[in-house]
Amino acid sequence: MLNCHDATQLMSEQQDRRLTLSERLSLRIHLLVCDGCRNFGMQMQSLRRFLRGYARGESEEFPPQDDAKNER
Ligand SMILES: [Zn+2]
Repeated sequence: MLNCHDATQLMSEQQDRRLTLSERLSLRIHLLVCDGCRNFGMQMQSLRRFLRGYARGESEEFPPQDDAKNER
């Protein structure tokens, strides 16, 4: 089973490469049982969306959330 470090690592890697089936499966199982990493994943998605908007000059649409408290 993945630990939180591995899970967050995989979540950031999956932005850049395709995860293998077993990686995706392990990640999904981890996210089912771990709220912290699930939140992290959602924040990462929001952040990416925000950054994409920001790059196009649409920053108001999606203010970044200052929720880094769940970091482990
Ligand atoms: Zn976790």
